Amino acid sequence: MTQLRVGKTRLTLVQGDITIQQVDAIVNAANAALRGGGGVDGAIHRAGGPDIMAECRRIGGCPTGKAVRTTAGRLPADHVIHAVGPIWSGGNAGEPDLLASAYRRSLEVAASQGARTVAFPSISTGVYGYPKDLAADTALDTVSAALSRLDFDEVRFVVFGDDDLATYEQAMHARAPE
Ligand code: ADP
Repeated sequence: MTQLRVGKTRLTLVQGDITIQQVDAIVNAANAALRGGGGVDGAIHRAGGPDIMAECRRIGGCPTGKAVRTTAGRLPADHVIHAVGPIWSGGNAGEPDLLASAYRRSLEVAASQGARTVAFPSISTGVYGYPKDLAADTALDTVSAALSRLDFDEVRFVVFGDDDLATYEQAMHARAPE
């Protein structure tokens, strides 16, 4: 299962590098300081060039659960939405709400920019340690719910590892109509 329809929007799943996606907006799994780092954040700044970091410095930071927009520099996308997911610390520190909020705010920021297509990485599931299956459930449920009031042609989930692909396939399958 690599495609689901929610209203008029296609939810799609691809395995690969988010920096090469041909979409209006890509989401970055950023940190609150917007300072870059490893993982998907590092890949986006490397591929997109220094304009993205210059704008991040001007913005200064972003609280956990929120998202801010910058240019996408040299990337094929028009916008990078820097979303800050929670660091997993056992699940009782508000992590699910903060992760849901990061997805929701990203879509709101993307919609405010007129984006019709958005690509997400699996926020918080790398260095931040969020369990992958729980994160996939939250991602799909939060995005699906937000689509009742926000209009997109496609929301694409871009996963890196084989295990992430299997996790998302299963989560999409569980949400498919009979
Ligand atoms: P976080 O700090 O939010 O956990 P990470 O970047 O460490 O963010 O990891 C988030 C997810 O992004 C992980 O599943 C990781 O495998 C994946 N990832 C890393 N590089 C890329 C990339 N270039 N494109 C898409 N996903 C990536």
